[in-house]
Amino acid sequence: MAALEIVRIPALSDNYIWLVHDPESAETMVVDPAQAEPVLAEADRRGWPITAIWNTHWHPDHTGGNAGIKAATGCEVIAPAGEAARIPTADRLVGEGDTVSLGSHVASVMDVPAHTAGHIAYHFAADGIVFVGDTLFAMGCGRLFEGTAEQMFVNMQRLSQLPPETRVYCAHEYTQSNGRYAKVAEPDNAAITERMAEVDRARAAGEATVPTTIAAELATNPFMRAASVEILAQRRAAKDVFSG
Ligand code: ZN
Ligand code: FE
Repeated sequence: MAALEIVRIPALSDNYIWLVHDPESAETMVVDPAQAEPVLAEADRRGWPITAIWNTHWHPDHTGGNAGIKAATGCEVIAPAGEAARIPTADRLVGEGDTVSLGSHVASVMDVPAHTAGHIAYHFAADGIVFVGDTLFAMGCGRLFEGTAEQMFVNMQRLSQLPPETRVYCAHEYTQSNGRYAKVAEPDNAAITERMAEVDRARAAGEATVPTTIAAELATNPFMRAASVEILAQRRAAKDVFSG
């Protein structure tokens, strides 16, 4: 099984759209297209006709490109079953335990509600890759717009149990702001201080800090590291108003 090729397409102010190509089958899917134009341009440049869109949740900065890409390519739109009404372009609805394939690469769907009520993640176990949308970020987690701290705690626990080398593809470049808060949440955590030095360097050089890994998050993410629902809730509330 040849490795998936994954291309980062920056969009809007801080979104990352992931273009994912299987060289064996020549299938190409795009995770959470905020916009159609940059995705169609990149796919065209690479000679990768888009065969599917995989959405993690309904927010417009993750689905805004659905209609345009579908119209241009005739691709299939795969979306969370719990958000069907808010993703009218969906062709196939999926939830916990379903599998979605790109060629012979198989992803299992995880329900990870909290940021939105029906948010899902796509885990390619054999590839060691997970697309987490706005649930897990480098040193952060999504805001609790439609769910509870308890749900997010469960999400963090489940994701923390994936193999540590798993590469985590998040949908935003929030790492520097998350890290500033992580230092406040865990002032004695040397791994956070070390990671932030590298993040500051990368951002100053205009580089992306995503994907991350489960191992890096286990060491530095104050939400994944929260020992209880109460601690996660307190940290999420503090981060919501943090401006450091
Ligand atoms: Zn979102
Ligand atoms: Fe988002």
